[in-house]
Amino acid sequence: MALVAGSAAQAQKLVVAHRGASGYLPEHTLEAKAMAHAMGAHYIEQDVVMTRDDQLIVLHDITLDRTTDVAERFMGRAREDGKYYAIDFTLDEIRTLQVREAVRNDNGLESVIYKNRFPLDKSRFRINTLAEEIELIQGLNKSTGRDVGIYPEVKSPSFHRREGKDLSSALVAMLKDYGYTSREHKVFLQTFDFNELKIIHDEVMPAAGVDIKLVQLISDSEDFAWMKDDSGMATIAVYADGIGPDKSMIIATDTPVGRVASSDLVDLAHSHGMEVHPYTFRLDPGQVPGYAKDFEELLQLFYVEVGVDGVFTDFPDRAVRFLNSRGI
Ligand code: CA
Repeated sequence: MALVAGSAAQAQKLVVAHRGASGYLPEHTLEAKAMAHAMGAHYIEQDVVMTRDDQLIVLHDITLDRTTDVAERFMGRAREDGKYYAIDFTLDEIRTLQVREAVRNDNGLESVIYKNRFPLDKSRFRINTLAEEIELIQGLNKSTGRDVGIYPEVKSPSFHRREGKDLSSALVAMLKDYGYTSREHKVFLQTFDFNELKIIHDEVMPAAGVDIKLVQLISDSEDFAWMKDDSGMATIAVYADGIGPDKSMIIATDTPVGRVASSDLVDLAHSHGMEVHPYTFRLDPGQVPGYAKDFEELLQLFYVEVGVDGVFTDFPDRAVRFLNSRGI
C-alpha cells in the first residue's frame, strides 16, 4: 500500500487497532497486538510511559491500578493519592505484574468496565516493553509478508518532565533504532500535548535526524477549544500531519436519529493538508451512539459520509471487514 506523502488524500482508509484488538483481549498485551495484526489492522497503537529505570513500556495510564494487580503485589508503594505510578517501579518489578481486563474502582469496589470482554483474572498476561512490541509487529510483518504500521503515543509528557524524564527523546531514539526515521515509514507519533508536539517537531526529531509523521490528539474539552477553528487548525498543521479527535467532536453523541450532521472539523483539517483519525469506535453495549443503528452504520457515517481517513477501534476486524465489504 502506497501512502501519498504530505497529502491528506490517500488510497487506503486506515484501521488503527486501539491498544491492540482490545475488544477481545486485555489492552496492550502482546496477545492483543498479535490478534490485531492477524485481523488485518493497518496500524497498531502503543501508549508509551517510562519506568523508574528509564525503560519504555506499553501502558495506557501513568498508573498501574486500572489494568494490573499492582495493589496486591506492592502494598505500600502507592503515592499519597492512593495510586501506583509506573514511574516509581523498575521494569523488573513491572514484569512481575499480572495484566487483566480493565476495572474501575468505586470506593474500593472493583467492577469490570466492559462486561462482554475477556474474563477478569483468567489466563496470564504481562506488560511488555515498547521494544518487545515493535519486534513482535516487525516479526509478524516478516512472517506474513504484510506491512503493519505502529502508532505510538507520548503519554503525559509534562508529568514525565516533572519527574526528570524526557519521554519523547527516548521514544524517538527507539523508533530510530527500529528503522522508523522518515515520513515514508509506517509510523504516526501521537500526543495530546500541543507543547510537546512542538518540542518533538522542532527539537527532538531534528536532534535525532528523524522526520516521521505526527498526530495531534484532540479531546472534547475546554483546553482544546482553540484548535477547532480555521486558525487553530492552521497552527496545528505547522507541526502535525494529522489530528486524532474524539469522534463526538465530528458527530455529536446526542445527534437525533435521521438528522446526522457533522461539524466542519474534518473539512478544516483536510483543507490544511492533515489526515483525520477519530477515536474510539467500540461495539460494547451502550458504546454505539444512538444516531447509528449499529457499528457498521457508524463506520459508514465516518468513513464514507464524513470522509475521515482512519479510525481508532477496539474491534479492528469489524472495521477491516467493513472496508473490504465496501471495496474501500
Ligand atoms: Ca492512546
